[in-house]
Amino acid sequence: MNRYCADHTMIATDLDGTLLDHYSYSYVPAQPALSFCQHHTIPIIVNTSKTRLESMVIRKSLGLSDPFIVENGSAVCIPKPWMARLHCESEQLLQTSDHWVLPLGTSRHRILAKLEKLRALGFRFQGFSEMPLSHLMEATGLSATDAELANQREYSEPIIWQDSDAELERFKECLKQEQLTLLKGGRFYHVLGATSKGRALRWLKQAYQQKNRALTTVVGLGDSANDIEMLNEADIAIWVRSPIHGVPSIPNHPMSFATQAKGPAGWNEAIASLFGIETRS
Ligand SMILES: [Mg+2]
Repeated sequence: MNRYCADHTMIATDLDGTLLDHYSYSYVPAQPALSFCQHHTIPIIVNTSKTRLESMVIRKSLGLSDPFIVENGSAVCIPKPWMARLHCESEQLLQTSDHWVLPLGTSRHRILAKLEKLRALGFRFQGFSEMPLSHLMEATGLSATDAELANQREYSEPIIWQDSDAELERFKECLKQEQLTLLKGGRFYHVLGATSKGRALRWLKQAYQQKNRALTTVVGLGDSANDIEMLNEADIAIWVRSPIHGVPSIPNHPMSFATQAKGPAGWNEAIASLFGIETRS
């Protein structure tokens, strides 16, 4: 172990383009560092624009059992065995068969109603909810099963913008007046409530720290603009280099750096470097 002690560390990570390859969705190049974290029981908090159902499938394949944050900070999902490790008021939480869920955003139903109001003003965009499955598969690069999971959203609507940049700015303002947020992800814009990956991580970090005083370092890993608030909440902010865009900047963060390798190979590189471990991806 090098500079950072596993007992004092929590990792918060984006999925698409960060822990998962932008094109193939593979996490294999990150496997050595993932195995190290699992061996040292370092919590790995998936913090993604994906849905709860998609995240459950991916976490299972990654072998993760820690809490996770879905739909760009719209909800924190807490596996039942984890409840004893967090300080949280149960009246805030909804129960599912596998998890407790803390909603922080706005329901998709309400978002869709507000988007229809905006469409009537002449804005041009296409949402997931309007796309036939074949179109959704093409737009996301997912299989039919995975595309269906991606469309089972609870708190947000991804859209393809079909209008000018000037209209996009006006659209953003209109959304703001409706207490909605527009975020740019790797492939889509996402319309969601007044929340963010950073807000959700802050809640989880505080709930965890109240029971685990030893937690001193949160490491955040992301690749896109929708990760900035999460990285701002992290003590160590890591930009995982993307094959499709440059490295965004986080002004004034005391400890941020970008990886050399892209996607999951960059994830592996960053975690190996932080903990001083030798890994080969
Ligand atoms: Mg991403």
